[in-house]
Amino acid sequence: MHRTHTCGELRSTHIGEEVTLSGWVQRRRDFGAMTFIDLRDRYGITQLSFNEDQDKSLNSEARSLGREFVIKVIGYVIERSNKNLNIPTGEIEIQVTRFEVLNAALTPPFTIEEDTDGGEEIRLKYRYLDLRRTPIQDKLILRSKLNKAVRDYLNEADFIDVETPVLIKSTPEGARDFVVPSRMNEGQYYALPQSPQTFKQLLMVSGFDKYYQIVKCFRDEDFRADRQPEFTQIDCEMSFVERDDILSTFEGMIRSVFKQVKNIELGEIPRLTYEDAIRRFGSDKPDMRFGMELIDMDTVTKGNGFGVFDNADSVVAINVSGGNTYTRKQLDELTDWVKRPQIGAMGLIYCRINEDGSFKSSVDKFFSQEQLAQWSLVCESKPNDLILLLSGQKDKVRKQMNELRLFVGEKEGLRPKTKFKACWIIDFPLVEKDDESNRWHAMHHPFTSPIPSHRELMHTDPGNVKANAYDMAINGMEVGGGSIRIHDKALQKQMFDLLGFTEKEAQEQFGFLMNAFEYGAPPHGGIAFGLDRLTAILAGTDSIRDVIAFPKNNMGRDVMIDAPASLNKDQQKELGL
Ligand code: ASP
Repeated sequence: MHRTHTCGELRSTHIGEEVTLSGWVQRRRDFGAMTFIDLRDRYGITQLSFNEDQDKSLNSEARSLGREFVIKVIGYVIERSNKNLNIPTGEIEIQVTRFEVLNAALTPPFTIEEDTDGGEEIRLKYRYLDLRRTPIQDKLILRSKLNKAVRDYLNEADFIDVETPVLIKSTPEGARDFVVPSRMNEGQYYALPQSPQTFKQLLMVSGFDKYYQIVKCFRDEDFRADRQPEFTQIDCEMSFVERDDILSTFEGMIRSVFKQVKNIELGEIPRLTYEDAIRRFGSDKPDMRFGMELIDMDTVTKGNGFGVFDNADSVVAINVSGGNTYTRKQLDELTDWVKRPQIGAMGLIYCRINEDGSFKSSVDKFFSQEQLAQWSLVCESKPNDLILLLSGQKDKVRKQMNELRLFVGEKEGLRPKTKFKACWIIDFPLVEKDDESNRWHAMHHPFTSPIPSHRELMHTDPGNVKANAYDMAINGMEVGGGSIRIHDKALQKQMFDLLGFTEKEAQEQFGFLMNAFEYGAPPHGGIAFGLDRLTAILAGTDSIRDVIAFPKNNMGRDVMIDAPASLNKDQQKELGL
């Protein structure tokens, strides 16, 4: 028998029992006549003790055990003289009577403990060792719980789990496809799904009514921070539903996940239109844990001879409550921060509201105390607040202000990782113009329907058509999105027309879907949540890599197995490459 208990199980109630444990040697400490070892497995750490007075040769044998050796020990549970109340097994230790080395280990390339000295690249190369560390294991265990909570909720609500194929033809979600050459059909390629979008819609045509799948999706995008070329979605679709049916079903799912996984009540989930979100936060995924909303300052800033404001399309402010404590140096740093190319602002203007109600701004030359008082009135500022202003082109300045709001919110401790606030964004634009190609692009994907009353507008004013689409954001991150779909062929055709597909192209790429719509397609809609992102948020980590067992690095490489790799000549030939 390898073990009677795990390394996380023994307590003072077990004192006196003879037990067998197996695990990894995390750390050995040698003291004169005594040797201590921390034995680790997935469940925890148990201290082993060897005492020269009891067994001299056993104690010296124990000193040959190196880090990460796999051992089996037999011994008695005894009370620990030096209790460690930070760990659940900290009141006891095992006085070892016998042990066996099950497997020796090379010295690991980094310390395998709660905190490690290994850099990210080396830890990814030896990911199986990094995965022994408790903080990483905890995140994968959390992921597994989340997975279960999702399945429990959806199964209970009568959803059916259906697998869709991985070798398919392109499904457009706005990224490039990964392609797979076909040996049997030389010169032809499969695409890996960017999502199961078309298949889940076909399942609705087939009458499955409620579908879900926790599924890998693949998108060949340029590597932006925190993207993985393969990632996991909780993909769902329902028939005979309208927007609100979807929102309430999945609001329920997210609530239930938070409750089951973290025992957190998610509270109210407000719904904001896209327009309102942009107006109030400058973002379609606002962090609603805190206020500091964007304030339009045009009426009180323009026409005073200050060119930067006068020539700007728009002037926007935020009011930092208590921000008058910022030093000149800190304000200079904020200014440098907004001027970085990633943010791209020209500069930052500020106005302090002093304790005595007077004002001190960086543009005192142009604005009198009375005029600054107007600013503070519009911003509803109080003494000791700080107003920060940016100006420029309308859309850009809101985006920049969103970044600044998040940055200042972080500094002010308004974005704690233990607080969660979700919201829905609805009424997205259906299409947006790509300035370079001067073509309309689907903001979500081409299968998204316009809101019913806007259908006619598609002919006359496509830019103002609202989509029957919705996203969920939590803490400023998009976690899910979906839409009510087009389910009639004529409208789908019209959409493809608008997006600039010729009839032939549309038929070639999506003929199967449009044909299916002619055989009785029910009204339907759905949504997909990013499982990696959702797990990262719940785990309180900024990187989705932390919640993926074997992630790629930021160049899309798996440095452990060294992929992607070249093919040998024979394979290339066989594949006709
Ligand atoms: N397929 C969409 C996506 O991957 C989600 C949806 O519309 O259901 O973003």
